[in-house]
Amino acid sequence: MTSLSASVVARAPGRVNLIGEHTDYNGGRCLPFAIGLATIATVRRRDDDRLRVHSREAIPGDHRWREYVVGVVAELRRIGWEIPGLDIDLVSTLPLGGGLSSSAALECAVATAIAGLLGAPLDGAGRRLLAEACRRAETEHVGAPTGGMDQLAALLGSEGHALLIDFADPDAPTTTAVPLPVAAAGLSLLVTDTRVRHVLADGDGGYAQRRRECADGHPRRRRHVTTENARVLDAVDAIGARSWQRLGGLMTASHVSLRDDYEVSVPQLDLVVDTALTAGALGARMTGGGFGGCTLTLVAADRADAVREAVDAAYAERRWDSPRHHLVTPGAGARVLRGAG
Ligand code: ADP
Ligand code: MG
Repeated sequence: MTSLSASVVARAPGRVNLIGEHTDYNGGRCLPFAIGLATIATVRRRDDDRLRVHSREAIPGDHRWREYVVGVVAELRRIGWEIPGLDIDLVSTLPLGGGLSSSAALECAVATAIAGLLGAPLDGAGRRLLAEACRRAETEHVGAPTGGMDQLAALLGSEGHALLIDFADPDAPTTTAVPLPVAAAGLSLLVTDTRVRHVLADGDGGYAQRRRECADGHPRRRRHVTTENARVLDAVDAIGARSWQRLGGLMTASHVSLRDDYEVSVPQLDLVVDTALTAGALGARMTGGGFGGCTLTLVAADRADAVREAVDAAYAERRWDSPRHHLVTPGAGARVLRGAG
C-alpha cells in the first residue's frame, strides 16, 4: 500500500439474481450476475481526518445512506487499513431500494476506490476481503441483515458469467463463474422494476422477520430454502446443457416458492410474472429480497417487446405507476476507472 494517489474514481455494478433467493443467509446457494447499471464513487484525500460524503441520488429525508459509507470506512480501518480523511462523491444509475442492490454497489464502489487510493490489490483475495468488509458495513453499521450475495456479485462478477456462490461455510463462501451465453442463444434477460419500494435496512421489516423464522425452523420457510437450493444446482445444470426452457421453468418455480412458501412477493411482482409468462416468456420470477423491487424474465429476444407491452398494459389497466424495464447482460465486477496508484 504505497500509492500516493490524491483521488480515485471507481465503479461497482448492481446485480440481478438469476435464481437462489433468501438462501445466502441460510447456508445455501445463489446464482447472481453483475449488470450494467452501477454506482460510481469519486474519493479524494483530505488534509484533515474528516469524512465528507455527497450523493447525487440521496433520497430527501433518508439519513441512513451515509451509514453505508461510514460503515465501509470503519470496517476497512478495523482490518488495519490506514484511511485518511476523505471527500466522497457518488452518482448512480441504479434504482434505490429497487432490488438491484444499490446498497452493495454503493459500498463496493467506495471500498474499491479506497483500495485504489491506497494501492491495495484488487485480485481475487483482495476482492473477497472488500466484499466481507462491505457486507459487515451493511449488517453491523446500517443494521440491514443481508447475507453477502450482493457484495460478492458486485466485486467478483465477470463479463458473460453468472456467479455461483455457495454459503455452506458462511465465513468462507465459495464462488464459481458460470458462463451464461443467453444472447448467443437468442434470448434476452428483462428486468422489470415494479416501482414498489422496500427498505431493507428497516430492521423490523419482513426480511429480518424471515431470517428469524428460518432460524426458528419455520417449516414452510425452510421448505423454500431446501427446494430453492436444489433449483440453483438444476439451473447450473440446465445452463450447461443449454436447456433454456428448463432454466425458465426453474425460475418460475422459484417465484411460486417465494410467493407461496416464503411469502415475500407482492401483487405487482405476481402480476409481472404472470403477464410475462402469458406473453410467451420462458420463465419469470421476482429477484432480490422481495416486498417490491424487480422481476427477471427470460424470454426469446424477439418476444421481449411483446412482454414489455403486455406488462405495461396490465399496469395501465390497474392505474399503477408505469413499471420500468431494463434489458440486462452479465457484466464485470467493480473496478477502478481512474487514478489508481
Ligand atoms: P437495494 O440495495 O435493492 O437498492 P436497499 O434497501 O438494500 O435496496 O438499499 C437502498 C438504500 O441504500 C437506499 O435507501 C439508500 O439509503 C442507500 N443507497 C444506495 N445507493 C445510494 C446512492 N447512490 N446514494 C444515496 N443512497 C444510496
Ligand atoms: Mg441492498
